[in-house]
Amino acid sequence: IEVMSFETLGLGPNLLRTIGEVGYSDPTPIQEAAIPLIIEGNDLIGIAQTGTGKTAAFTLPMLETLERLTSDPSRRGKTRALVLSPTRELVVQIHDNVSAYARHLSLKVATVYGGVNEAPQKKALRAGVDLVIATPGRLMDLMGQGCADFSGIEFFVLDEADRMLDMGFLPNIRKIVKNLPKKGKQTLLFSATLSRDIEKLTKEFLYRPKTVEIGKRSNPADTVRQCIHEVPNSSKVSLLKHLLEDNDLYSVLVFTRTKHGADRVAGQLAKSKIPTAAIHSNRSQNQRARALQDFKDGKTRVLVATDIAARGIDVEGITHVINFDFPPNAEDYIHRIGRTGRANSAGEAISFITSEDQGTLRIVERKMRKSIYRKRVTGFNISRSSNSSRSPNSSRSSNSRHKKGGGGGSSFRPNQSAKGGKSGGGKQRRNFGQRRSSGK
Ligand code: AMP
Repeated sequence: IEVMSFETLGLGPNLLRTIGEVGYSDPTPIQEAAIPLIIEGNDLIGIAQTGTGKTAAFTLPMLETLERLTSDPSRRGKTRALVLSPTRELVVQIHDNVSAYARHLSLKVATVYGGVNEAPQKKALRAGVDLVIATPGRLMDLMGQGCADFSGIEFFVLDEADRMLDMGFLPNIRKIVKNLPKKGKQTLLFSATLSRDIEKLTKEFLYRPKTVEIGKRSNPADTVRQCIHEVPNSSKVSLLKHLLEDNDLYSVLVFTRTKHGADRVAGQLAKSKIPTAAIHSNRSQNQRARALQDFKDGKTRVLVATDIAARGIDVEGITHVINFDFPPNAEDYIHRIGRTGRANSAGEAISFITSEDQGTLRIVERKMRKSIYRKRVTGFNISRSSNSSRSPNSSRSSNSRHKKGGGGGSSFRPNQSAKGGKSGGGKQRRNFGQRRSSGK
């Protein structure tokens, strides 16, 4: 199968230069399919597995079009593109991506999200930035205060589209869309999952959309290995600690159902001297940002999170996702485990299953059309463990690597190369390899 290059997708020299600098050698399948369609001016629904380059798939062609028309004086000083996403962290992440891709262009970009001072956001909106990346709540606030003029919007993007169109967000999305021009704008929807119900809803927002679907819908990336451990609630914490005795669990994202649960698990791990942070919506934006950054930097080995971190978050090198509590539905499962195995790296997803989870588990398996491997944990006796924080048999590899190393306060992570395989030093190279045959 032929591998396409970025040069053939219709992107101009400025962006091609940036892509070279960023180090992408080939477009990913979703990029290859979506970029030309967006440059041609189509509305688009883009579905592709987690971690396969969706952000660039909509950002690059959008920047290309904005750049081309930038000399048109009627467009000056107006906001031309609005990107909505469900969480603050994701807004920040998309902004990082957009800023990187736009570095040779003269477009101004601003973010709008809650939990932080709104003054700079208002100022940016009033000044007329070209591109706004926002969460719906804060954006509505500022629109209500008359700060935003969206009459010149050319691009409207819903990232994590199925979440944005679910019951929680839909009323706000509708209100925001009312303030956008009816004609002459391009609407783009991207997600890794899109249920048929939500897909019907998209008709309300899109005009003759093209659909690009890579891989099977509701399937996790092939790079994520999945297994489950059957365990009663009372033994979950000790099982988690037991698993963490294995140093292969190197950078671990743990999902709990509730905020309180996240705090509790994080507290337990911290007590066992495992560098841990928690992220959920009751924490201040500062704390959230800090927790995520420390995790990215390798200062914490474990990040315990609610579903707030289930979507979109792209942290390089998450080796394991652990569903401490099984998610309430199949979509969340797909998104959660999609935090690992990104950009063709390998990842593992481990789910703790109690008797109450069996029903949801079956739904997940049916959606994915495969059953998840039931794995017995070696050296761990579930019935004996429920009250002791330590597993009865901890003869596994020593944990010394994760104990506080020298060089005070530095990363717990040893040199990547110590793990063998991945080349050490510098950023891990991303390689999506050959194009897989696509759904369409
Ligand atoms: P996303 O699915 O947009 O979160 O992207 C997942 C990761 O893949 C990000 O870290 C991107 O920087 C990276 N990425 C996106 N496009 C490419 C590409 N064409 N080649 C290599 N890496 C890429």
